[in-house]
Amino acid sequence: MYTLGIDIGSTTSKCALLENGASIIATSISVGGMGTDGPKRALNDIWTCSGISSDEVDRTIVTGYGRMNFKAADGEVSELTCHALGGSFIFSGLRTIIDIGGQDAKVICLSEQGRMTNFIMNDKCAAGTGRFLDVMASILNIDIDDMGECASRAKKPASISSTCTVFAESEVISQLANGVELPDLVAGICDSVATRVGALARRAGVKEKVCMSGGVAKNSALRKVLGERLGVEIYFDERAQLFGAIGAALYAYKQENK
Ligand code: ADP
Repeated sequence: MYTLGIDIGSTTSKCALLENGASIIATSISVGGMGTDGPKRALNDIWTCSGISSDEVDRTIVTGYGRMNFKAADGEVSELTCHALGGSFIFSGLRTIIDIGGQDAKVICLSEQGRMTNFIMNDKCAAGTGRFLDVMASILNIDIDDMGECASRAKKPASISSTCTVFAESEVISQLANGVELPDLVAGICDSVATRVGALARRAGVKEKVCMSGGVAKNSALRKVLGERLGVEIYFDERAQLFGAIGAALYAYKQENK
């Protein structure tokens, strides 16, 4: 049996195709979230790389910020449920998921049985989200994919005191003009996001095992500093950005087997 999960986010669209709720046979990530052709491209990539057609899929579930506007699925479910399912599928015994996406950050707490017991979310402010990192990467003219590696070369991470993205932007520009080295600035930017998300995680209550999900999980410097701040090991899997889509496909499988 094939089930498909589609996660339409604020910045990217992700898909995961599962066989019998057990093996991931294809995944795709397309730039462009809600209101773009990102979902369509992500779906096309799934058919191309799996060789499976949409007629062969038994059930499709959509999740994410743009899920209400996507009519071609059999049902929709919240990102929280999907990240919990997807995260626990990849990491057994998972108790905390720190999800940082393009527009919000969420901390999801799980019971020993993997059921969601609490969650906390920041969606009011860009600081502490991928948006903050995207803005800073664009000012510094570096690729978002290279931020973690760049920060790892820092000798003395810069201090970014502004908590507001707009003020932090001016602060970064003036530090750059004052000769602060690029790796130090990038490390300071990652620190600033880790401080915000760390505070959110403490409020939610962090229990090990902890993992990160969402696109920002790919930033190795941020993972490291966040783990240090929280005093925990943060587990990472290359498919972290796909946890929502994987969870949606698992949810579809569970529904089919009810
Ligand atoms: P959403 O579901 O809201 O669209 P995602 O979970 O897909 O968000 O994450 C998107 C964010 O991930 C981007 O805003 C960007 O900051 C970050 N990101 C994407 N790819 C990478 C990467 N290779 N390294 C670091 N950060 C990344």
